[in-house]
Amino acid sequence: MPAHLRVTRNTSLPTMPQPIHDILHRVFGYTDFLGQQQAVIEHTVAGGDSLVLMPTGGGKSLCYQIPAIVRDGVGVVVSPLIALMRDQVEGLRQTGVRAACLNSTLTYQEVLEVEAAVTNSSLDLLYVAPERLLGDRTLELLARTRLALFAIDEAHCVSQWGHDFRPEYLQLSELRDRFPDIPRIALTATADEPTRREIVRRLGLGRAPQFVSGFDRPNIRYAVVPKNRARHQLQRFLEERHRGSAGIVYCLSRRRVDDTAEWLRGIGVDALPYHAGLHAATRQRNQDRFQREDGVVIVATIAFGMGIDKPDVRFVAHLDLPKSIEAYYQETGRAGRDGEPADAWMVYGLQEVVTLRQMVEGSTAGEMRKRLEVRKLDAMLGYCELTACRRQTLLSYFGETLDQPCGNCDNCLTPVASWDATEACQKALSCVSRTGQMFGAGYLIDVLRGLENERIQRFGHDRIPTHGVGADLDPYRWRSVFRQLVARGLLSVDMEGYGSLRLTEASWPVLRGEEEVLMRRDVRPERAARKRKKKEPPPPPDPSTWDEALWEALRARRTELARAQSVPPYVIFHDSTLREMVEQRPRTLEEFARLSGVGETKLGRYGDEFLAVITEWDDTPSIRLAGEG
Ligand code: ADP
Ligand code: ZN
Repeated sequence: MPAHLRVTRNTSLPTMPQPIHDILHRVFGYTDFLGQQQAVIEHTVAGGDSLVLMPTGGGKSLCYQIPAIVRDGVGVVVSPLIALMRDQVEGLRQTGVRAACLNSTLTYQEVLEVEAAVTNSSLDLLYVAPERLLGDRTLELLARTRLALFAIDEAHCVSQWGHDFRPEYLQLSELRDRFPDIPRIALTATADEPTRREIVRRLGLGRAPQFVSGFDRPNIRYAVVPKNRARHQLQRFLEERHRGSAGIVYCLSRRRVDDTAEWLRGIGVDALPYHAGLHAATRQRNQDRFQREDGVVIVATIAFGMGIDKPDVRFVAHLDLPKSIEAYYQETGRAGRDGEPADAWMVYGLQEVVTLRQMVEGSTAGEMRKRLEVRKLDAMLGYCELTACRRQTLLSYFGETLDQPCGNCDNCLTPVASWDATEACQKALSCVSRTGQMFGAGYLIDVLRGLENERIQRFGHDRIPTHGVGADLDPYRWRSVFRQLVARGLLSVDMEGYGSLRLTEASWPVLRGEEEVLMRRDVRPERAARKRKKKEPPPPPDPSTWDEALWEALRARRTELARAQSVPPYVIFHDSTLREMVEQRPRTLEEFARLSGVGETKLGRYGDEFLAVITEWDDTPSIRLAGEG
């Protein structure tokens, strides 16, 4: 493990016997703590400050929620995600925790009620927007209240390094001076070193231990497929793996977002667009539907992301390439926060490489900045062209090592061969040179394959030595060769926007036969699909106990219950809990209580409701038959 990922623990603090396991079972309905939760919770309960770095979905919330319940007084949670506070509070109330929020969306009457609850000590947790927290009124309120802790969520917002900088976060440094005896716990999923140093400095956490978890997201399956009619590929991906799932489809431009969303609706997917060009109200409405309903797909530009806290996003699909691995990891990380299987799926082709290269090379940014962008893009393209385990490469990019290939990425599941493409590359590069470095890949491929069309004849390219030397490879393979040449910088793209390809310094050693080139042997998507069909049946997970129709019936009941209270379905039960219902078929409240995610409050509220669905299901053969038909 790299040194910076080692965990520091403050052993001088006394470890008190606390009922934290009891709360984990009774309130949240979970059996065991995840990762470092227990260490963080014990430390916070004992009154220590800390910085907690955990990946998305790592379970950060419990790290401050349980101490806030155990310790005397109210736990104050600072969060910039105002739009989500109500849902977070609602999620807690559903488990029986006394929670409220203070932010600009509340009416005056509501503010008074929350303040009264704080004063009466009848709250466990109070969520506050940062600008609100440091207002006189709130400070005064907190000064006369018994406080359990301060949790500073999304702590990277204090860093000017990061892309989510929030000026109001800077004032949080005052907390230490104003409330020196109250433990502070800062949490983030953004781990890079400069950001972390800045959090520590700005929040005065120099002496606090750091609890750092690995950044692997083992439940996410990474896959990159060569583009070949992207929409059909997306359609097949959705049909095979994600019927009715919630997901995000990322595109680069607003126009593509709109077109793709419309097309998806045309094939029966409940898809909504999201980008900065839409009316604020439409955007909000689409985001709300995504957040609150089952199975909505959002098609979005990267404007969509921050402020998404939906645990059951089952897939993130990229129809266009992100500009860096950081962006890719952050975007794909929105899938599968609940730890259930999820997909990060991307199509990637020659055209993307050409467009992105043009964008970066032609950018008017300063020389330093441009070089940085080129480096980031190179890393991203390298990731796409990998033949080895994708997760190993991703993690090593963030300074972590994974000793074994992961077994849950496309390259691990269907190993990709490489082939010696030296000769093909020489032909391609020579064709570029002989045609004057003025043409794009499509034309070059025609020349290589020996076509005799009017355009080729007009330029006299039917008489050059490379005409027809590439007839042994089909156009699909040639496109793959050109894509990999551009991705690796063995060819560059002109900046005028015609996409003509040019030799680079790196081309020469290959042309002169001094350097070998190994390339990935792309499998045509249709063939890959045929192969997969035989070998690997898509989910559901365990066919012997799985019953898709019961699953749908349980989801429908959950939606009804959620609608009636206008809350998102997942605050009632997560998908994982519904899945356990299908697999374990509880028949009594006692059995129901054993499901993960069922605490005492939810058992009382919903146990009978869901048991009724299961019982009716198992006892009524006609429903079963209809469902199976
Ligand atoms: P983060 O804020 O780090 O992204 P959350 O706190 O939202 O993560 O937790 C992610 C998911 O894991 C949630 O669905 C949560 O209910 C679940 N979870 C958290 N702790 C546990 C646990 N100890 N056992 C089972 N599930 C847990
Ligand atoms: Zn792998």
